[in-house]
Amino acid sequence: MQAQILGFITPLIAVVIGITFAIMWRVGGMRRHVLGYAIAYASFAIGFLITHLLPASSLFLFHATQFFYSFGAIVLLASVCERVGQKLHIKSMIAVYLISAAVLTLAVSISDEADPRLLIVNIGYGVMFAMGVTTLLNARRREALDIALIIVLTIQAADFLIRPTLTLMFERSIDVAVYRDSIYYSLIGLVLAVKSISTAMVLIGATIAEWADLLRERGNRDDLTGLSSRGVFEIETRAMLPRAHAEGASLSLIVADIDLFKQVNDIWGHQAGDAAIVSFANLIASRVRGHDVTGRIGGEEFCIAVWNCDNRAAENLAERIRMAFGSQEHTALGEGIRLTASFGVATAREGEGYAQLFARADEALYRAKASGRNRVENAERQMACGEPEQHGHADDVREGAVHVAAG
Ligand code: GH3
Ligand code: MG
Ligand code: MG
Repeated sequence: MQAQILGFITPLIAVVIGITFAIMWRVGGMRRHVLGYAIAYASFAIGFLITHLLPASSLFLFHATQFFYSFGAIVLLASVCERVGQKLHIKSMIAVYLISAAVLTLAVSISDEADPRLLIVNIGYGVMFAMGVTTLLNARRREALDIALIIVLTIQAADFLIRPTLTLMFERSIDVAVYRDSIYYSLIGLVLAVKSISTAMVLIGATIAEWADLLRERGNRDDLTGLSSRGVFEIETRAMLPRAHAEGASLSLIVADIDLFKQVNDIWGHQAGDAAIVSFANLIASRVRGHDVTGRIGGEEFCIAVWNCDNRAAENLAERIRMAFGSQEHTALGEGIRLTASFGVATAREGEGYAQLFARADEALYRAKASGRNRVENAERQMACGEPEQHGHADDVREGAVHVAAG
């Protein structure tokens, strides 16, 4: 009776671990390898349950458990490899499974002893885990948790390969009829539970670490556009300023704001407005270089910190973005609908801080708005601007910043 109840513990542990991974995957919006862990543990749980419930003499038991254990092992190893960007050779794993299944069928037909069967299946898993470890060793990433995972999987492989041989040496041959009463059977139950739990603990640790990274990454990014959020943009730009001064590089700031955007929302709705914001963000992201920092600092307001870029080049960049955006058609808003944006440019002066630099670029943007929108104003060439140029933007969106292309 006691053994009957104890036999349910391992499957139950595997189910709980599987559910834990499924929740982490679903709630955390994590990558599919975490779902892979959940599927693997669910499969192990079914295997453990079949082992416990079916008569030990049944050939079906061996094949059914072997199927679920092998499936679980392949999914687990493939997921662990995918976690570090490696691809497990699934076909070889399936070949190992099929070969051991065939040899197992042969062994069952010629002997009533459990030993050869145990050796065959365990060596099969041992080979699978060893192949998984070899694939993991090819990964370039070697952080503490990656090493911990390699170690637990190596222990798994070693256990599969060594344990059956050792136990059988001490216990001699085990008849299938008394297999459940053997030391081997109690030992295997314990070893499987300990291995499942320890591997799961390392996997849960690794998943929590990935989750924390994901949350940090998400917190740094603006959900809608994928650009840096305001706070992160400021932190990154603040860090660039002293570096620019030290290296004698120019750092320019471009502030951009879509024109008459309230009317876009009013006319076409918030969702269409969001689509326009995303296309502006994508355009900005496509025009900057790797060292530049881009951020969404307000609803439809963006900022670019252009690294090693003098004032004239920054103004040209802003001008190119302005023209490209102005010629973009926004099909989400309607056929032939175009929007415009205004830009302010400033270049960091000796010893200037972020707040001051931003204030000057923002002031230039304000001037661009005040002098008719759809233009670039440069804080460094304030005097040269003269009278505001008329671009023909009325306050009404249909005549102004939002252009309905004729034909
Ligand atoms: P201006 O040319 O002077 O910039 O006029 P504007 O109408 O664009 O004025 P302003 O920049 O002050 O308005 C921003 C509007 O953007 C206000 C708000 O309704 C809208 N907005 C802010 N955040 C979002 C967002 O995430 N999605 C959408 N669709 N609209 C937003
Ligand atoms: Mg605006
Ligand atoms: Mg705005």
